[in-house]
Amino acid sequence: MDLQILPISAPKARIDDENELIFGKQYTDRMLVMEYDRNKGWHSARIQPYGPLLLDPAAMVLHYSQEIFEGLKVFRRADGSLSMFRPADNITRFNRSAERMCMPQVDEKFFLDAMLELIRLEADWVPHNEGTSLYVRPTMIATEPMLGVRPADQYLCYVILSPVGPYYKGGVAPVKIWISDYYVRATEGGTGEAKTGGNYAASLYAAKEATENGYDQVLWLDAKEKRFVEEVGSMNMLFLYDGKIVTSPLHGTVLDGITRRSVLTLVKEMGYEIEERALSVDDIMEGSRNGRLQEAFGAGTAVAISPVGSFCYKNTCVQLGDGNPGKLTMELYNKLTAIQYGRHTDDHDWITLL
Ligand SMILES: *Cc1c(COP(=O)(O)O)cnc(C)c1O
Repeated sequence: MDLQILPISAPKARIDDENELIFGKQYTDRMLVMEYDRNKGWHSARIQPYGPLLLDPAAMVLHYSQEIFEGLKVFRRADGSLSMFRPADNITRFNRSAERMCMPQVDEKFFLDAMLELIRLEADWVPHNEGTSLYVRPTMIATEPMLGVRPADQYLCYVILSPVGPYYKGGVAPVKIWISDYYVRATEGGTGEAKTGGNYAASLYAAKEATENGYDQVLWLDAKEKRFVEEVGSMNMLFLYDGKIVTSPLHGTVLDGITRRSVLTLVKEMGYEIEERALSVDDIMEGSRNGRLQEAFGAGTAVAISPVGSFCYKNTCVQLGDGNPGKLTMELYNKLTAIQYGRHTDDHDWITLL
């Protein structure tokens, strides 16, 4: 398939102060688009001006949520070059999500190359300041106009780019975690492992409850016993418990995070023992009180590493340690971001330079 590159009429106005960039609010001049038809396969791949999509009101995505997405970032290094962190892994996961949602596979090499081409054309949109990046959002939606429930015959796949300011403005700040004792995110056999919009729609109600109570993020427990920790919002959870790294295993309800995977590699090299097992909510609440739970942090592309300062479960709230980010948590945050921004050598072949 050829990639057509269409001209833009005029570049958009930009926000001058990079620290004022709000996540997901502003987009670059161009987007990558390709279309799929059951008979023709993928076709009409093109980089075109960013703009609204024309969709039939009966497009299946609008009714039955056949949708998947990805999230990754482009970082600008001190020497001006641009880097991406394990982008091929995101495309592989995109195809895994597609499989689960009965959507067509993309050609991973073509899609990655086309995405990199788009980013090269938009390179001057990548912000410069410490902690800033260009967020990349690959998406696939079912576009066939049809109200019967079945996998669609037509799809649109696109990639949009959004410059984002630093996630942490006044230094790395710990988050307050609300443990949901009633609502659940995913069940075994469900779609928890797929990066699909429906999982997020289903999470909003519990997130609203957390916010109303003054908490930042929801920590989800397993759906069966509502006892074992799964993950948080759009991050995997890792714990330093009794000197070991504990994180939920991947058994279908937890998203296979690329940040999680990378952190596990790093802590292993640092000599930590890793236990992929389900920590219980009692381990967390008791462990915070008696010190067995030493540190807790979320891991995901948006934040890299997010330290946890406190937990709240059934009206009981506990502070973890002295409430400040833990030592290992900060070490991992610094190491991961140093690899991404090129301040640390890329010993694992994680970086793609543009
Ligand atoms: C995207 C996502 C993550 C984090 O994955 P990364 O590849 O590290 O960005 C974790 N949990 C959920 C539910 C997600 O959607």
